[in-house]
Amino acid sequence: RRPSSRKGSMSDVPKDLLQQIERLEGLFTVPQEKLKAITDHFVSELAKGLSKEGGSIPMIPTWCMGIPNGHETGTFLAVDMGGTNLRVCEIVLPDAKGEFDIIQSKYRMPEELRTGTAEELWGYTADCIKQFIEYHHEDEKLDQLPMGFTFSYPVSQEYIDHGVLQRWTKGFDIDGVEGVDVVPPFEAALKERGVPIKLTALVNDTTGTLMASAYTDDTVKIGCIFGTGCNAAYVEDCGSIPKLEHMNLDPKLPMAINCEWGAFDNEHIILPRTPYDIIVDKESPRPGQQSFEKMVAGLYLGELFRLVLLDLHTNPEVQIFKGQNVDELQKMYSLDASFLSAIEVDPYENLQETADLFSSKLGIHVNKPELELCRRLAELIGTRAARLTSCGVAAICKKKGYTSCKAGADGSVFNRYPHFKARGAQALREIFDWPSDLKDPIEVIPSEDGSGVGAALIAALTLRRLKEGNH
Ligand code: BGC
Ligand code: MG
Repeated sequence: RRPSSRKGSMSDVPKDLLQQIERLEGLFTVPQEKLKAITDHFVSELAKGLSKEGGSIPMIPTWCMGIPNGHETGTFLAVDMGGTNLRVCEIVLPDAKGEFDIIQSKYRMPEELRTGTAEELWGYTADCIKQFIEYHHEDEKLDQLPMGFTFSYPVSQEYIDHGVLQRWTKGFDIDGVEGVDVVPPFEAALKERGVPIKLTALVNDTTGTLMASAYTDDTVKIGCIFGTGCNAAYVEDCGSIPKLEHMNLDPKLPMAINCEWGAFDNEHIILPRTPYDIIVDKESPRPGQQSFEKMVAGLYLGELFRLVLLDLHTNPEVQIFKGQNVDELQKMYSLDASFLSAIEVDPYENLQETADLFSSKLGIHVNKPELELCRRLAELIGTRAARLTSCGVAAICKKKGYTSCKAGADGSVFNRYPHFKARGAQALREIFDWPSDLKDPIEVIPSEDGSGVGAALIAALTLRRLKEGNH
Protein backbone atom coordinates (compact mmCIF):
# COMPACT_ATOMS: atom_id res chain seq x y z
CA ARG A 1 0.00 0.00 0.00
CA ARG A 2 1.06 3.52 -0.71
CA PRO A 3 2.25 5.07 2.54
CA SER A 4 1.58 8.79 2.09
CA SER A 5 -1.65 10.43 1.05
CA ARG A 6 -2.35 11.52 -2.50
CA LYS A 7 -2.93 15.13 -1.54
CA GLY A 8 0.63 15.41 -0.31
CA SER A 9 2.07 14.26 -3.60
CA MET A 10 0.07 16.88 -5.48
CA SER A 11 2.42 19.46 -3.99
CA ASP A 12 4.93 19.12 -6.83
CA VAL A 13 2.27 19.50 -9.49
CA PRO A 14 2.63 22.81 -11.36
CA LYS A 15 -0.16 25.33 -11.08
CA ASP A 16 -1.63 24.94 -14.57
CA LEU A 17 -1.97 21.18 -14.14
CA LEU A 18 -3.42 21.62 -10.67
CA GLN A 19 -6.01 23.91 -12.13
CA GLN A 20 -6.89 21.23 -14.65
CA ILE A 21 -7.19 18.66 -11.90
CA GLU A 22 -9.54 20.98 -10.03
CA ARG A 23 -11.57 21.55 -13.16
CA LEU A 24 -11.88 17.79 -13.67
CA GLU A 25 -12.84 17.32 -10.03
CA GLY A 26 -15.60 19.83 -10.55
CA LEU A 27 -16.80 18.05 -13.68
CA PHE A 28 -16.70 14.49 -12.41
CA THR A 29 -17.68 14.81 -8.75
CA VAL A 30 -21.28 14.00 -7.88
CA PRO A 31 -22.09 15.52 -4.49
CA GLN A 32 -24.60 14.07 -2.04
CA GLU A 33 -27.44 16.42 -2.95
CA LYS A 34 -27.04 15.60 -6.62
CA LEU A 35 -27.09 11.86 -5.83
CA LYS A 36 -30.41 12.37 -4.06
CA ALA A 37 -31.86 14.40 -6.90
CA ILE A 38 -30.79 11.80 -9.47
CA THR A 39 -32.28 9.02 -7.34
CA ASP A 40 -35.64 10.79 -7.07
CA HIS A 41 -35.79 11.43 -10.78
CA PHE A 42 -34.80 7.79 -11.34
CA VAL A 43 -37.76 6.63 -9.21
CA SER A 44 -40.19 8.57 -11.36
CA GLU A 45 -38.58 7.30 -14.56
CA LEU A 46 -38.91 3.68 -13.38
CA ALA A 47 -42.61 4.30 -12.84
CA LYS A 48 -42.96 6.02 -16.19
CA GLY A 49 -41.40 3.02 -17.90
CA LEU A 50 -44.13 0.80 -16.44
CA SER A 51 -46.92 3.13 -17.51
CA LYS A 52 -48.99 2.77 -20.67
CA GLU A 53 -47.37 5.84 -22.19
CA GLY A 54 -43.90 4.55 -21.39
CA GLY A 55 -40.78 6.58 -20.71
CA SER A 56 -37.13 6.41 -21.63
CA ILE A 57 -36.32 3.42 -19.39
CA PRO A 58 -37.85 0.40 -21.19
CA MET A 59 -38.89 -1.54 -18.01
CA ILE A 60 -39.41 -4.78 -19.90
CA PRO A 61 -41.66 -7.51 -18.46
CA THR A 62 -39.59 -10.66 -18.83
CA TRP A 63 -42.31 -13.29 -18.30
CA CYS A 64 -40.09 -14.75 -15.67
CA MET A 65 -42.91 -15.08 -13.16
CA GLY A 66 -41.57 -16.79 -10.14
CA ILE A 67 -38.74 -16.88 -7.69
CA PRO A 68 -36.93 -20.18 -7.30
CA ASN A 69 -37.74 -22.01 -4.07
CA GLY A 70 -34.63 -24.16 -4.14
CA HIS A 71 -36.51 -27.29 -5.22
CA GLU A 72 -36.12 -26.89 -8.97
CA THR A 73 -34.74 -30.03 -10.63
CA GLY A 74 -33.57 -31.21 -14.03
CA THR A 75 -30.76 -30.86 -16.54
CA PHE A 76 -30.46 -27.65 -18.50
CA LEU A 77 -28.22 -25.96 -20.93
CA ALA A 78 -27.37 -22.33 -20.34
CA VAL A 79 -25.78 -20.23 -23.04
CA ASP A 80 -24.47 -16.74 -22.37
CA MET A 81 -23.66 -14.60 -25.37
CA GLY A 82 -21.50 -11.90 -23.84
CA GLY A 83 -19.47 -9.20 -25.52
CA THR A 84 -16.15 -10.99 -25.15
CA ASN A 85 -17.05 -14.60 -24.46
CA LEU A 86 -19.64 -17.12 -25.31
CA ARG A 87 -20.17 -19.44 -22.39
CA VAL A 88 -21.97 -22.75 -22.67
CA CYS A 89 -22.94 -24.55 -19.46
CA GLU A 90 -24.75 -27.71 -18.59
CA ILE A 91 -26.43 -27.43 -15.22
CA VAL A 92 -27.91 -30.19 -13.17
CA LEU A 93 -30.31 -29.12 -10.46
CA PRO A 94 -30.52 -32.16 -8.17
CA ASP A 95 -33.20 -32.95 -5.60
CA ALA A 96 -31.14 -31.46 -2.78
CA LYS A 97 -32.39 -27.98 -1.97
CA GLY A 98 -30.49 -25.03 -3.43
CA GLU A 99 -27.73 -27.15 -4.95
CA PHE A 100 -26.43 -27.45 -8.47
CA ASP A 101 -23.70 -29.06 -10.57
CA ILE A 102 -22.23 -27.30 -13.52
CA ILE A 103 -19.89 -28.09 -16.39
CA GLN A 104 -18.96 -25.33 -18.77
CA SER A 105 -16.82 -24.22 -21.69
CA LYS A 106 -15.90 -20.73 -22.77
CA TYR A 107 -15.43 -19.68 -26.38
CA ARG A 108 -14.08 -16.38 -27.56
CA MET A 109 -16.49 -14.10 -29.39
CA PRO A 110 -14.36 -12.90 -32.29
CA GLU A 111 -14.25 -9.12 -32.46
CA GLU A 112 -15.50 -9.15 -36.08
CA LEU A 113 -18.77 -10.75 -34.98
CA ARG A 114 -19.79 -7.51 -33.27
CA THR A 115 -20.20 -5.80 -36.60
CA GLY A 116 -20.67 -8.78 -38.91
CA THR A 117 -23.88 -10.34 -40.18
CA ALA A 118 -26.75 -11.92 -38.27
CA GLU A 119 -26.06 -15.24 -39.97
CA GLU A 120 -22.46 -15.26 -38.78
CA LEU A 121 -23.54 -14.43 -35.24
CA TRP A 122 -26.10 -17.23 -34.93
CA GLY A 123 -23.96 -19.64 -36.92
CA TYR A 124 -20.98 -19.11 -34.64
CA THR A 125 -23.10 -19.43 -31.50
CA ALA A 126 -24.69 -22.63 -32.75
CA ASP A 127 -21.28 -24.04 -33.75
CA CYS A 128 -19.97 -23.51 -30.22
CA ILE A 129 -23.01 -25.22 -28.69
CA LYS A 130 -22.64 -28.10 -31.09
CA GLN A 131 -18.99 -28.49 -30.14
CA PHE A 132 -19.91 -28.45 -26.46
CA ILE A 133 -22.56 -31.15 -26.89
CA GLU A 134 -20.28 -33.32 -29.00
CA TYR A 135 -17.49 -33.02 -26.48
CA HIS A 136 -19.55 -33.72 -23.38
CA HIS A 137 -22.02 -36.20 -24.84
CA GLU A 138 -19.94 -38.09 -27.35
CA ASP A 139 -21.94 -40.89 -28.97
CA GLU A 140 -24.88 -40.37 -26.64
CA LYS A 141 -28.36 -40.18 -27.98
CA LEU A 142 -29.67 -37.03 -26.31
CA ASP A 143 -33.22 -36.09 -25.58
CA GLN A 144 -33.92 -32.50 -26.36
CA LEU A 145 -32.29 -30.41 -23.65
CA PRO A 146 -34.08 -27.25 -22.50
CA MET A 147 -31.93 -24.16 -22.79
CA GLY A 148 -31.87 -20.82 -21.01
CA PHE A 149 -30.30 -18.37 -23.40
CA THR A 150 -28.81 -15.25 -21.86
CA PHE A 151 -28.95 -12.50 -24.43
CA SER A 152 -27.98 -9.29 -22.66
CA TYR A 153 -29.55 -6.62 -24.81
CA PRO A 154 -32.91 -4.91 -24.62
CA VAL A 155 -35.48 -7.26 -26.13
CA SER A 156 -39.24 -6.79 -26.01
CA GLN A 157 -40.84 -10.01 -24.89
CA GLU A 158 -44.39 -11.20 -25.31
CA TYR A 159 -43.42 -14.72 -24.39
CA ILE A 160 -40.49 -15.93 -22.36
CA ASP A 161 -39.09 -17.91 -25.29
CA HIS A 162 -39.20 -15.05 -27.77
CA GLY A 163 -37.83 -11.55 -27.93
CA VAL A 164 -37.56 -8.74 -30.41
CA LEU A 165 -34.29 -6.85 -30.17
CA GLN A 166 -35.09 -3.19 -29.56
CA ARG A 167 -31.59 -2.01 -30.34
CA TRP A 168 -28.00 -3.12 -29.98
CA THR A 169 -26.00 -1.74 -27.07
CA LYS A 170 -22.39 -2.11 -25.91
CA GLY A 171 -20.90 -1.42 -29.32
CA PHE A 172 -22.63 -4.27 -31.13
CA ASP A 173 -23.83 -3.27 -34.56
CA ILE A 174 -25.12 -6.17 -36.62
CA ASP A 175 -27.56 -5.47 -39.43
CA GLY A 176 -30.89 -7.19 -39.66
CA VAL A 177 -31.29 -8.12 -35.99
CA GLU A 178 -32.87 -4.99 -34.53
CA GLY A 179 -36.64 -5.06 -34.73
CA VAL A 180 -36.88 -8.81 -35.28
CA ASP A 181 -37.42 -11.84 -33.07
CA VAL A 182 -33.96 -13.22 -32.35
CA VAL A 183 -35.16 -16.73 -31.52
CA PRO A 184 -36.20 -18.17 -34.94
CA PRO A 185 -32.86 -17.52 -36.69
CA PHE A 186 -30.97 -18.87 -33.69
CA GLU A 187 -33.12 -22.01 -33.56
CA ALA A 188 -32.76 -22.41 -37.30
CA ALA A 189 -28.98 -22.33 -36.96
CA LEU A 190 -29.16 -24.99 -34.24
CA LYS A 191 -31.49 -27.16 -36.29
CA GLU A 192 -29.30 -26.87 -39.37
CA ARG A 193 -26.47 -28.33 -37.31
CA GLY A 194 -28.65 -31.04 -35.80
CA VAL A 195 -28.20 -29.78 -32.24
CA PRO A 196 -30.90 -31.30 -30.00
CA ILE A 197 -31.83 -28.24 -28.01
CA LYS A 198 -35.02 -26.36 -27.29
CA LEU A 199 -34.82 -22.70 -26.40
CA THR A 200 -37.02 -22.57 -23.30
CA ALA A 201 -36.27 -19.10 -21.99
CA LEU A 202 -34.64 -16.00 -23.37
CA VAL A 203 -33.01 -14.32 -20.40
CA ASN A 204 -31.41 -10.99 -19.64
CA ASP A 205 -28.20 -11.23 -17.59
CA THR A 206 -29.73 -9.08 -14.84
CA THR A 207 -32.76 -11.36 -14.50
CA GLY A 208 -30.49 -14.39 -14.39
CA THR A 209 -28.39 -12.70 -11.73
CA LEU A 210 -31.46 -11.88 -9.67
CA MET A 211 -32.79 -15.45 -9.84
CA ALA A 212 -29.44 -17.10 -9.14
CA SER A 213 -28.85 -14.90 -6.11
CA ALA A 214 -32.38 -15.24 -4.79
CA TYR A 215 -32.01 -19.04 -5.11
CA THR A 216 -29.44 -19.04 -2.34
CA ASP A 217 -30.42 -15.89 -0.40
CA ASP A 218 -34.02 -14.76 -0.23
CA THR A 219 -33.11 -11.27 0.96
CA VAL A 220 -31.83 -10.54 -2.56
CA LYS A 221 -34.42 -8.41 -4.36
CA ILE A 222 -32.40 -6.86 -7.18
CA GLY A 223 -30.02 -8.27 -9.78
CA CYS A 224 -27.43 -5.89 -11.23
CA ILE A 225 -24.76 -6.04 -13.88
CA PHE A 226 -21.85 -3.62 -13.63
CA GLY A 227 -19.76 -4.81 -16.53
CA THR A 228 -19.22 -3.87 -20.15
CA GLY A 229 -22.81 -2.65 -19.92
CA CYS A 230 -24.89 -1.72 -16.90
CA ASN A 231 -28.42 -2.70 -15.95
CA ALA A 232 -30.69 -4.13 -13.26
CA ALA A 233 -33.76 -6.32 -12.77
CA TYR A 234 -36.24 -6.68 -9.92
CA VAL A 235 -39.72 -8.10 -9.35
CA GLU A 236 -43.01 -6.20 -9.62
CA ASP A 237 -46.52 -7.53 -9.07
CA CYS A 238 -48.46 -7.60 -12.32
CA GLY A 239 -50.98 -5.27 -10.68
CA SER A 240 -48.31 -2.56 -10.54
CA ILE A 241 -47.53 -2.73 -14.24
CA PRO A 242 -50.12 -0.49 -15.96
CA LYS A 243 -48.82 -1.32 -19.40
CA LEU A 244 -49.88 -4.97 -18.90
CA GLU A 245 -53.38 -4.10 -17.70
CA HIS A 246 -54.99 -5.18 -20.97
CA MET A 247 -53.80 -8.74 -20.40
CA ASN A 248 -55.94 -9.21 -17.29
CA LEU A 249 -53.22 -11.03 -15.39
CA ASP A 250 -53.69 -11.88 -11.73
CA PRO A 251 -52.51 -8.64 -10.07
CA LYS A 252 -50.69 -10.61 -7.40
CA LEU A 253 -48.53 -12.59 -9.84
CA PRO A 254 -44.86 -11.68 -9.66
CA MET A 255 -43.11 -10.52 -12.82
CA ALA A 256 -39.40 -9.88 -13.15
CA ILE A 257 -38.73 -6.56 -14.85
CA ASN A 258 -35.62 -6.01 -16.91
CA CYS A 259 -35.23 -2.27 -16.36
CA GLU A 260 -32.70 -1.53 -19.12
CA TRP A 261 -31.73 1.42 -16.97
CA GLY A 262 -28.81 2.20 -19.26
CA ALA A 263 -31.35 4.37 -21.08
CA PHE A 264 -32.01 6.48 -17.98
CA ASP A 265 -32.01 10.19 -18.71
CA ASN A 266 -31.72 9.88 -22.46
CA GLU A 267 -33.50 13.22 -22.50
CA HIS A 268 -30.63 14.80 -20.49
CA ILE A 269 -32.56 16.26 -17.61
CA ILE A 270 -30.55 15.30 -14.56
CA LEU A 271 -27.26 13.52 -15.17
CA PRO A 272 -24.17 15.71 -14.82
CA ARG A 273 -22.80 15.08 -18.31
CA THR A 274 -19.36 16.46 -19.09
CA PRO A 275 -18.16 17.53 -22.54
CA TYR A 276 -16.36 14.17 -22.65
CA ASP A 277 -19.58 12.25 -22.10
CA ILE A 278 -21.06 14.14 -24.99
CA ILE A 279 -18.21 13.10 -27.29
CA VAL A 280 -18.46 9.44 -26.20
CA ASP A 281 -22.12 9.54 -27.10
CA LYS A 282 -21.67 11.31 -30.43
CA GLU A 283 -18.97 8.93 -31.58
CA SER A 284 -20.80 5.78 -30.53
CA PRO A 285 -22.71 3.65 -33.05
CA ARG A 286 -25.96 4.69 -31.32
CA PRO A 287 -25.85 8.39 -30.37
CA GLY A 288 -28.62 9.60 -28.09
CA GLN A 289 -29.10 6.16 -26.53
CA GLN A 290 -27.91 4.59 -23.27
CA SER A 291 -27.02 7.94 -21.68
CA PHE A 292 -26.64 6.54 -18.19
CA GLU A 293 -24.77 3.46 -19.38
CA LYS A 294 -22.26 5.59 -21.25
CA MET A 295 -21.29 7.29 -17.97
CA VAL A 296 -20.96 4.20 -15.82
CA ALA A 297 -20.29 1.03 -17.80
CA GLY A 298 -16.92 -0.62 -18.31
CA LEU A 299 -16.99 -0.21 -22.07
CA TYR A 300 -16.84 3.57 -21.71
CA LEU A 301 -14.62 4.22 -18.67
CA GLY A 302 -11.36 3.92 -20.56
CA GLU A 303 -12.74 5.91 -23.44
CA LEU A 304 -13.69 8.80 -21.16
CA PHE A 305 -10.22 8.74 -19.68
CA ARG A 306 -8.65 8.75 -23.13
CA LEU A 307 -10.76 11.69 -24.29
CA VAL A 308 -9.78 13.80 -21.29
CA LEU A 309 -6.08 13.10 -21.80
CA LEU A 310 -6.29 13.87 -25.48
CA ASP A 311 -8.05 17.13 -24.70
CA LEU A 312 -5.32 18.13 -22.24
CA HIS A 313 -2.68 17.19 -24.79
CA THR A 314 -4.16 19.42 -27.47
CA ASN A 315 -5.00 22.24 -25.07
CA PRO A 316 -2.20 24.77 -25.72
CA GLU A 317 -2.33 26.01 -22.14
CA VAL A 318 -1.48 22.65 -20.61
CA GLN A 319 -0.10 20.37 -23.31
CA ILE A 320 0.43 17.21 -21.34
CA PHE A 321 2.66 14.64 -23.09
CA LYS A 322 4.23 17.60 -24.89
CA GLY A 323 6.09 16.78 -28.09
CA GLN A 324 5.24 13.08 -27.91
CA ASN A 325 3.70 10.79 -30.44
CA VAL A 326 0.11 10.25 -29.35
CA ASP A 327 -1.03 8.10 -32.30
CA GLU A 328 -2.00 5.23 -30.03
CA LEU A 329 -3.89 7.53 -27.66
CA GLN A 330 -5.75 8.88 -30.64
CA LYS A 331 -7.30 5.52 -31.42
CA MET A 332 -10.89 5.24 -30.24
CA TYR A 333 -11.40 2.73 -27.46
CA SER A 334 -7.65 2.03 -27.26
CA LEU A 335 -7.94 2.04 -23.45
CA ASP A 336 -10.31 -0.16 -21.52
CA ALA A 337 -11.45 -0.18 -17.92
CA SER A 338 -8.63 -2.53 -16.93
CA PHE A 339 -6.17 0.26 -17.79
CA LEU A 340 -7.87 2.49 -15.24
CA SER A 341 -8.02 -0.34 -12.71
CA ALA A 342 -4.29 -0.82 -13.01
CA ILE A 343 -3.66 2.88 -12.45
CA GLU A 344 -5.92 2.93 -9.42
CA VAL A 345 -4.05 0.09 -7.75
CA ASP A 346 -0.55 1.28 -8.58
CA PRO A 347 1.08 0.81 -5.17
CA TYR A 348 4.15 2.93 -5.77
CA GLU A 349 4.58 6.42 -4.42
CA ASN A 350 6.17 7.47 -7.72
CA LEU A 351 3.41 5.77 -9.73
CA GLN A 352 5.98 3.60 -11.47
CA GLU A 353 3.47 1.04 -12.68
CA THR A 354 1.34 3.72 -14.23
CA ALA A 355 4.38 5.12 -16.01
CA ASP A 356 5.28 1.65 -17.33
CA LEU A 357 1.75 1.11 -18.51
CA PHE A 358 1.69 4.31 -20.49
CA SER A 359 4.98 3.58 -22.16
CA SER A 360 4.21 -0.06 -23.00
CA LYS A 361 0.62 0.43 -24.09
CA LEU A 362 0.71 3.91 -25.61
CA GLY A 363 4.39 4.62 -26.19
CA ILE A 364 4.09 7.76 -24.10
CA HIS A 365 6.56 8.88 -21.48
CA VAL A 366 4.60 10.47 -18.65
CA ASN A 367 6.28 12.83 -16.20
CA LYS A 368 5.56 12.88 -12.48
CA PRO A 369 2.97 15.68 -12.39
CA GLU A 370 1.18 14.12 -15.36
CA LEU A 371 1.15 10.80 -13.56
CA GLU A 372 -0.52 12.47 -10.61
CA LEU A 373 -3.13 13.87 -12.93
CA CYS A 374 -3.75 10.46 -14.53
CA ARG A 375 -4.16 8.83 -11.16
CA ARG A 376 -6.63 11.45 -9.99
CA LEU A 377 -8.54 11.24 -13.26
CA ALA A 378 -8.89 7.47 -13.00
CA GLU A 379 -10.20 7.91 -9.45
CA LEU A 380 -12.68 10.51 -10.58
CA ILE A 381 -14.05 8.45 -13.46
CA GLY A 382 -14.21 5.24 -11.41
CA THR A 383 -15.80 6.99 -8.44
CA ARG A 384 -18.40 8.75 -10.52
CA ALA A 385 -19.41 5.45 -12.11
CA ALA A 386 -19.82 3.72 -8.75
CA ARG A 387 -21.79 6.61 -7.23
CA LEU A 388 -24.14 7.02 -10.17
CA THR A 389 -24.98 3.31 -10.28
CA SER A 390 -25.98 3.50 -6.62
CA CYS A 391 -28.68 5.99 -7.61
CA GLY A 392 -30.26 3.22 -9.69
CA VAL A 393 -30.12 0.69 -6.86
CA ALA A 394 -31.52 3.25 -4.42
CA ALA A 395 -34.28 4.17 -6.87
CA ILE A 396 -35.52 0.57 -7.16
CA CYS A 397 -35.52 0.26 -3.36
CA LYS A 398 -37.43 3.52 -3.00
CA LYS A 399 -39.92 2.58 -5.67
CA LYS A 400 -40.58 -0.77 -4.01
CA GLY A 401 -40.43 0.54 -0.46
CA TYR A 402 -37.54 -1.79 0.40
CA THR A 403 -35.81 -0.37 3.47
CA SER A 404 -33.60 -3.38 3.92
CA CYS A 405 -32.50 -5.83 1.24
CA LYS A 406 -29.63 -6.97 -0.92
CA ALA A 407 -28.79 -6.57 -4.57
CA GLY A 408 -26.81 -9.36 -6.19
CA ALA A 409 -24.29 -7.93 -8.63
CA ASP A 410 -22.02 -9.32 -11.29
CA GLY A 411 -19.84 -7.96 -14.06
CA SER A 412 -16.21 -7.08 -14.65
CA VAL A 413 -16.44 -3.61 -13.14
CA PHE A 414 -18.13 -4.82 -9.97
CA ASN A 415 -15.77 -7.75 -9.56
CA ARG A 416 -12.50 -6.25 -10.67
CA TYR A 417 -12.55 -2.46 -10.59
CA PRO A 418 -10.78 -1.32 -7.41
CA HIS A 419 -12.94 0.31 -4.71
CA PHE A 420 -16.06 0.10 -6.86
CA LYS A 421 -18.01 -1.70 -4.12
CA ALA A 422 -16.89 0.61 -1.32
CA ARG A 423 -17.58 3.74 -3.35
CA GLY A 424 -21.02 2.48 -4.29
CA ALA A 425 -21.78 1.64 -0.64
CA GLN A 426 -20.67 5.11 0.44
CA ALA A 427 -23.02 6.68 -2.10
CA LEU A 428 -25.94 4.61 -0.78
CA ARG A 429 -25.21 5.92 2.72
CA GLU A 430 -25.27 9.47 1.40
CA ILE A 431 -28.51 8.91 -0.50
CA PHE A 432 -30.33 7.39 2.47
CA ASP A 433 -28.64 9.29 5.32
CA TRP A 434 -28.35 6.14 7.39
CA PRO A 435 -27.11 6.79 10.93
CA SER A 436 -23.40 6.00 11.05
CA ASP A 437 -23.77 3.33 13.74
CA LEU A 438 -26.22 1.34 11.62
CA LYS A 439 -25.05 -1.62 9.55
CA ASP A 440 -25.91 -0.72 5.92
CA PRO A 441 -29.52 -1.89 5.52
CA ILE A 442 -29.18 -2.10 1.73
CA GLU A 443 -26.12 -3.82 0.37
CA VAL A 444 -24.83 -4.72 -3.05
CA ILE A 445 -23.17 -8.12 -2.83
CA PRO A 446 -21.44 -10.41 -5.34
CA SER A 447 -24.03 -12.61 -7.04
CA GLU A 448 -24.20 -16.26 -7.83
CA ASP A 449 -23.63 -17.25 -11.44
CA GLY A 450 -26.54 -15.52 -13.14
CA SER A 451 -26.02 -16.42 -16.75
CA GLY A 452 -25.30 -20.04 -15.90
CA VAL A 453 -27.34 -21.13 -12.91
CA GLY A 454 -29.72 -18.19 -13.22
CA ALA A 455 -30.60 -18.95 -16.82
CA ALA A 456 -31.05 -22.65 -16.00
CA LEU A 457 -33.34 -21.77 -13.09
CA ILE A 458 -35.46 -19.58 -15.29
CA ALA A 459 -35.76 -22.42 -17.79
CA ALA A 460 -36.75 -24.73 -14.91
CA LEU A 461 -39.33 -22.27 -13.58
CA THR A 462 -40.74 -21.91 -17.07
CA LEU A 463 -41.14 -25.64 -17.56
CA ARG A 464 -42.81 -25.92 -14.17
CA ARG A 465 -45.21 -23.13 -15.04
CA LEU A 466 -46.05 -24.79 -18.37
CA LYS A 467 -46.67 -28.09 -16.62
CA GLU A 468 -48.98 -26.40 -14.16
CA GLY A 469 -50.84 -25.03 -17.15
CA ASN A 470 -50.28 -21.34 -16.53
CA HIS A 471 -49.73 -19.09 -19.52
C1 BGC B 1 -27.90 -4.15 -22.11
C2 BGC B 1 -28.63 -4.90 -21.01
C3 BGC B 1 -27.63 -5.68 -20.18
C4 BGC B 1 -26.50 -4.80 -19.71
C5 BGC B 1 -25.46 -5.57 -18.92
C6 BGC B 1 -26.76 -3.33 -21.53
O1 BGC B 1 -26.05 -2.73 -22.55
O2 BGC B 1 -28.78 -3.30 -22.80
O3 BGC B 1 -29.59 -5.77 -21.56
O4 BGC B 1 -28.30 -6.23 -19.08
O5 BGC B 1 -25.88 -4.18 -20.81
O6 BGC B 1 -24.91 -6.60 -19.66
MG1 MG C 1 -22.20 -10.89 -19.38
